[in-house]
Amino acid sequence: MAKYNNAKCRLCRREGTKLFLKGDRCYSEKCAVSENRRPYAPGQHGRARKKLSDYATQLREKQKVRRVYGVLEKQFHEYYVRAEMAKGVTGANLLAFLERRLDNVVYRLGFANSRSQARQLVRHGIFTLNGHKVTIPSLLVKVGDSVEVPEKSRSIAILADAEQAVARRGCPAWLEVDASNFKGLIKALPQRDDIQFPISEHLIVELYSK
Ligand code: SF4
Repeated sequence: MAKYNNAKCRLCRREGTKLFLKGDRCYSEKCAVSENRRPYAPGQHGRARKKLSDYATQLREKQKVRRVYGVLEKQFHEYYVRAEMAKGVTGANLLAFLERRLDNVVYRLGFANSRSQARQLVRHGIFTLNGHKVTIPSLLVKVGDSVEVPEKSRSIAILADAEQAVARRGCPAWLEVDASNFKGLIKALPQRDDIQFPISEHLIVELYSK
């Protein structure tokens, strides 16, 4: 279970980029890394310009991706080991595993404003997977799976925004959302091109290959 209790915006400031951890606020001028706020790292030396070593660059990239998906170190490394053993390119496999997490799918379908909110909703048993109640955010979806909100849970206010959320963020090609019926379908496995967020996964592979 991924849990980080410190201010989320500090994580974005540390990575120097938007990680979209806070839902609507991330798209507003209140975002801490926007130009008119504090687009520098937190802490006393946050404004100091530092040249990062190769190792530090690789480490930051790994931390950035881990924080985007809200995964703890141990689990992230387990995904890497599985990605290395799977057929294909390790970096792309790693991102595909992260994308296939149920909490990410719920977020991508627009049923939550952030991955952490999605995780919370999944844990509360709001969703069904192929008709069965699920409470495990790290569950990996497969092609043909369907994620649904049963009728008794459809009145939750967050879920009503699904259509607008998908319109704003866009739904990746490997998913299909039927917002009016509170349903999503996994049409295919996620491909590297489906992940638009800037990630240099080769740096993570280099880090773990040492
Ligand atoms: Fe990151 Fe969102 Fe906070 Fe901006 S508002 S710093 S994107 S968590």
